[in-house]
Amino acid sequence: MRVSDHVRRGPADVGATVWLTGLSGAGKSTIARALAGRPRLDGRRIEVLDGDELRRTLSAGLGYSREDRDANVARIGLVARLLARNGVLALVPVIAPYRAAREQLRAEHRAEAVPFLEVYVSAPVEVCAERDVKGLYAAQRAGRLSGLTGVDAPYELPQAPDLVLDTSRRRVAESVAHLAAALADRGLL
Ligand code: ADP
Repeated sequence: MRVSDHVRRGPADVGATVWLTGLSGAGKSTIARALAGRPRLDGRRIEVLDGDELRRTLSAGLGYSREDRDANVARIGLVARLLARNGVLALVPVIAPYRAAREQLRAEHRAEAVPFLEVYVSAPVEVCAERDVKGLYAAQRAGRLSGLTGVDAPYELPQAPDLVLDTSRRRVAESVAHLAAALADRGLL
């Protein structure tokens, strides 16, 4: 047996950060969880970095100003990068509304040659507001909340995402299949 037989890395060992960006209710978490739950991924190390959980823990105390949102994204990006460089597929369904912060993530991953994919989970704000999973859009309309991304706070569209998943036109299973194929194409799944 050659030494290289021990160190050969297959897709199961190659980590990556897959950042799913988009409005609240666009379907980021749904797609990430569905991908992570695929039965055929047995043995693959996958983490879904849940944005709400991390806001309560890692980013406790941060609010929704631009500065705080950027800090939240940077912290989660660090965790994702550490996981990814250790062979984990880190799926990150986090809005990340500002382009510069997303570009910073890409640059940090590139500097360490850790694969990074920006996946734009797109749906018109009207569709997201109709779904209103967390009641945020209703709360904004009622004046109980302000600074809602895509309504009264900015969402800067990705200019060159690695993949676009339009959830107003695709079923969940189709989006998941599309994402899985994109990862497989890059040797990441
Ligand atoms: P986000 O993580 O982007 O805030 P979620 O995944 O939490 O969004 O919520 C999206 C909601 O939209 C879920 O309740 C999901 O079941 C629903 N939904 C309806 N159609 C779709 C679709 N085609 N793709 C993804 N989610 C969809």
